[in-house]
Parts: sequence; C-alpha cells; structure tokens
Amino acid sequence: MNSSNCIFCKIVAGDIPCHKLYEDDKVLAFLDVGPLSRGHCLVIPKAHHETLDELPDDLAAACASVLPRLSRAVKSATGVKDWNILQNNGRLSGQAVDHVHFHIIPRVADDGLGFRWPAGKLENQDAATLIKAITSAL
Ligand code: AMP
Ligand code: ZN
Repeated sequence: MNSSNCIFCKIVAGDIPCHKLYEDDKVLAFLDVGPLSRGHCLVIPKAHHETLDELPDDLAAACASVLPRLSRAVKSATGVKDWNILQNNGRLSGQAVDHVHFHIIPRVADDGLGFRWPAGKLENQDAATLIKAITSAL
C-alpha cells in the first residue's frame, strides 16, 4: 500500500469524509468508523508512513503531543475514566490500515474487550543479550 491507495491519506486529502475531532499542520484525529467502544478515535500523522519505526521524530512528537489532550477530551465527553492507547504495526499485530495510527479506546466494565497479558519471565542471560542487541541498534 502507498499513499495513492491509502484510505487514511484519502481522508487527509479530503477525498473521503471523516468525523473529524482535531487537526493541525501535521496531525489529524477522527472517530473510528468501527468503534470498539463509544468514543473510539484515531490520531494519525498527515504524512503517509506505514509503521511507527518509519515515522520521523517530529511527526512522532506531533502525534504524541495530541494524545494526552484528546484523551482528556474523550474522557470528559464520554464520562469514561479508563482507556487504552493502541498502536499496531504489521499484520501479526492486527494492523489493517498501513498508515501509522494511534487508537484511543475508552474502556468500561464488562465491555467484552478483555485484556490478555500472558506475562513470561525475563531471564538474566537473555536480558543481557537483548540489551547488547537493542542498544547497539539504537
Ligand atoms: P488497525 O487494525 O490498527 O489498522 O486499525 C484500523 C482502524 O481504522 C480500524 O479500527 C477501523 O475501524 C478504522 N478505519 C478504517 N477505515 C476507516 C475510515 N474510513 N474512517 C475511520 N476509521 C476507519
Ligand atoms: Zn496513508
């Protein structure tokens, strides 16, 4: 997928409509048309980048700076106190739209969304290996 056939680029360009919540020169936020809960919305950089690792620092910062403010507004508007920020990268993660986006997903009791966190155990030897590999790649 590239920007010419990307649904979020078409929204940014105004070629298809969205339920807009916020816009500045780098960022757009709108309601998700397939909400997991009431108030579910998306924050996207206006420029087309497929996954978070491809996002330039200034656009990452611009998106990040909108998230707290929009989260406060969604909380205030819906009365919900809890929410998830979700950001999927790649098919195995659940990414369906190949344009970076951050979900804001309000959570309420018994919303059926669940929370799976099957924690493992970090072994010291693997931690050392990971630290070496990751820090040398930074
Ligand atoms: P993901 O699985 O992380 O790629 O999430 C993509 C999200 O985009 C889904 O929650 C969809 O409901 C949402 N979505 C897809 N098309 C549109 C659209 N035209 N307007 C608003 N949200 C959309
Ligand atoms: Zn795009």
